[in-house]
Amino acid sequence: MNIVLFGPPGAGKGTQSALLVSQKKMHHISTGDLFRSHIKSKTPLGLRAKEYLDSGRLMPDDVTLSMVKEALAMLHGEGVVLDGFPRNVAQADALETLGREVGFDVEKAVFFDVPEAVLVGRLSGRWTCRNCGAVYHEVNTPPKVAGVCDRCQSKDLYQRADDSLESIKTRLKIYQETTAPLRDYYQARGRLAAVDGQGPTEQVYDRLCRVLWEKK
Ligand code: AMP
Repeated sequence: MNIVLFGPPGAGKGTQSALLVSQKKMHHISTGDLFRSHIKSKTPLGLRAKEYLDSGRLMPDDVTLSMVKEALAMLHGEGVVLDGFPRNVAQADALETLGREVGFDVEKAVFFDVPEAVLVGRLSGRWTCRNCGAVYHEVNTPPKVAGVCDRCQSKDLYQRADDSLESIKTRLKIYQETTAPLRDYYQARGRLAAVDGQGPTEQVYDRLCRVLWEKK
C-alpha cells in the first residue's frame, strides 16, 4: 500500500513515518528531508532551497515534483509513505498524473488533526539530529542522554531555522491556505482518512494503523 501523510507542520508526520518504516518496513519519501539533505550537501538545488526552507515558504512545484519523481524511480516498489508531498492541489494532481505514468497508486491520504496551540508548542521545542534526522522534543520526548541522539549517538542535535516563531507562523498560514484543501481533494476521491494526532506517539501510531489496515 502506498500512502500520503499530510497535516500542519508539527502534526507528527515524520515521527509516524519513522514508525511505519521500522515496524512495517515501508519506504519513506520526505520532501522536507530531501531538501534538507541537498542543503547540507550544498548542491545547486540545496543552495536555492535554503532561503525557502529557512523562511518556511514552499519550494516551487516543478522542482519538488522532479525530486519526487527521482526518489520514486529509485525505490521501484510498493509500500511507500509520502511525507510532506503533495502539499497543494497542483502537486496532488501532478502525483495522479505521474502515478498513471509509472504505475504508482496512492491508496490512502491520512490527515493528522492537531490543534494549532499544540503545534506551536511541539515545533518550538523540537530538536532534530543533523546526522540521521531523528526528532526529539525538549519536554515531551527528550533523548535519553541530553544532547545525544538515541538512534545514531551523534551529538549534533539542532533546532531547525524554520522552527523559529516567525517561520512557524508563516508555515501555519501556508498550510491553511494551500495544504488544508487536500482534505476535500482526497475526500472527493474516496481516499481520505483522518487521525487524531494528539497524545503519545504510540497511541497516534495505533490509530494510524487502524485506519490503514483494519477492515471496516
Ligand atoms: P517539512 O520537513 O515537511 O516540514 O518541510 C520543510 C520545508 O521544506 C517546507 O517548509 C518547504 O519549504 C519545503 N517543502 C517540503 N515539502 C515540500 C513540498 N511538497 N512542496 C514545496 N516545498 C516543500
